[in-house]
Parts: sequence; C-alpha cells; structure tokens
Amino acid sequence: MVEIIEFKGTLVKKERLAPDIVLLSFKLDEEFSFKAGQYVMVKVNDGDSSKLKAYSVFSPPSQKDTIDLCIKIIEGGFASEVFDKVEEETEFEMKGPFGRFFFDENNTSTVQFFICAGTGIAPLHSMLVECLHKYPDKKFKLLFGARTRKDLVYHEQFLELEKSNDNFEYLPTITREEWDGRQGRVQQHLEGDFSDTTFYICGLKEMVLTTKGLLIEKGVDPENIKFERYS
Ligand SMILES: Cc1cc2nc3c(=O)[nH]c(=O)nc-3n(C[C@H](O)[C@H](O)[C@H](O)COP(=O)(O)OP(=O)(O)OC[C@H]3O[C@@H](n4cnc5c(N)ncnc54)[C@H](O)[C@@H]3O)c2cc1C
Repeated sequence: MVEIIEFKGTLVKKERLAPDIVLLSFKLDEEFSFKAGQYVMVKVNDGDSSKLKAYSVFSPPSQKDTIDLCIKIIEGGFASEVFDKVEEETEFEMKGPFGRFFFDENNTSTVQFFICAGTGIAPLHSMLVECLHKYPDKKFKLLFGARTRKDLVYHEQFLELEKSNDNFEYLPTITREEWDGRQGRVQQHLEGDFSDTTFYICGLKEMVLTTKGLLIEKGVDPENIKFERYS
C-alpha cells in the first residue's frame, strides 16, 4: 500500500473546462505517490472557517511534480465558492492518497468498462491515461454522461485518444440538448454482453447506485463492479 503523507500544493494553473467545472493544477512541495483512481483530502479555508474536502486526482501518477483536480463549482457550496474565486499562487494543505477505487492489476476481464457522469470523470481519466498503454490486450470503454456537450470535459481529448488507441472506445451521452451523438443518461446505455467485463463507476450517489443495480439485474457479478461515490 502507498504511504499516506501530508504535503502542500500551490495552485499554478486554473482552467475553466466547462461553465461550472474548473481544472486546478497544483505544484507539490514533495513527491506524492498514488494509484490512478485515488483521491486526496484538501484543506479549504474561507475566512475563519476551514473544511477538509475529498477530490479524486484527475492527472495520472506518471505526471510528476504536479497534480490536477477537476472540480465542479456548486452554487453556495463551501469549497466550490473558494475554488471559483481562487487565484494562482494560493497554497493548500493536502493529505493522501486515499481510497480503494483504483485499477485492479490482477483482474482478468478483457473489457474494462468505465462509467461516469460530471466530475466523476476525474479518477477514470487518471486510470485511462495510466492503463491504456500498460494493458494493450484489454479493451477500455468510457461511457461518460453530462447535461450538454459543453459539460463533457475533455471531449476532444477523448476523441483523440480513441483515434490513437485501438483498445479504447469513447461513448459520450448527453441529457439536456440535441446533438448527433448518444442521448440520455448513462443508465440508458447499458446494453451488450457483459460476461467478460469489469465495471468502474464514479459519480453522485443516485447514478452510482442505479447503475450498479441495473448491472446486477443484467447478471453482472457484484465482484466485478467497482465504484466511487461523491455523495
Ligand atoms: C472520494 C470522493 C472524491 C471526490 N472527488 C471529487 C472530484 O474529483 N471533483 C468534484 O467536483 N467533487 C468531488 N467530490 C465531492 C467533493 O468532496 C465535495 O463534496 C464537493 O466539491 C462539494 O463541496 P462544497 O464544499 O463545494 O459543497 P457543500 O457545501 O459541501 O454542499 C454542496 C451540495 O452539493 C452536493 N454535491 C457534492 N458533490 C457534487 C457534485 N460533484 N455535483 C453536484 N452536486 C454535488 C452535496 O451533496 C451538497 O448537497 C468527491 C467526494 C468524495 C467523497
């Protein structure tokens, strides 16, 4: 197991990926090892108050010196308001890595099916970037749900990744506008033969629980369903 450490991260880049999603890159004051899919606890200060908040690492472990977090700005949310206004050079105390939601190297399934909505993409992006080359004999699928095309963060990058990796299939779906792609929630796109498949699901509670329930109804062994819930 990787050792849990406390460290400091200085914000070096802030990028708006979607109307209410920011990508924050932090330069770290010491070497931080984690497994793709794990999360860090960030101490968020606002005036006299401070709260510890969990964020999955968006960047892969192979990216050294900095980590990227992909954060949804929720109106009125304590940390959200801080991250919405935060400026470069601000320092944050962090601790990690935490969590058991990481790629299982011993899993024998040929298909690794990643399912997420919104910022649930964070740990799965980290895993994909880390695993696509490492496991050329496995087939990776990413079913990614969002409200509109603009909310599908890294859409162009995933299309590129699909073009350059025969073992990757990108399946975006949106719920609140018309486009020439898949329509509806991720739960509406769970068709196929899942006999040789392991699932990794990440997002808010309702999405994770209903998706997991549907997969079990379709005969998937719960052992082959790994998940991370944000709420
Ligand atoms: C293991 C783990 C990993 C997480 N990783 C991420 C991550 O990579 N990116 C990220 O944006 N969040 C992530 N979260 C959620 C995060 O920890 C906070 O809960 C979130 O940022 C809201 O905090 P806040 O202080 O802004 O809002 P709060 O003041 O705590 O409350 C805001 C309200 O929004 C709800 N909410 C929480 N998260 C979301 C969300 N993503 N979308 C919509 N509503 C939400 C809460 O249930 C609450 O009702 C993760 C949570 C866990 C447990």
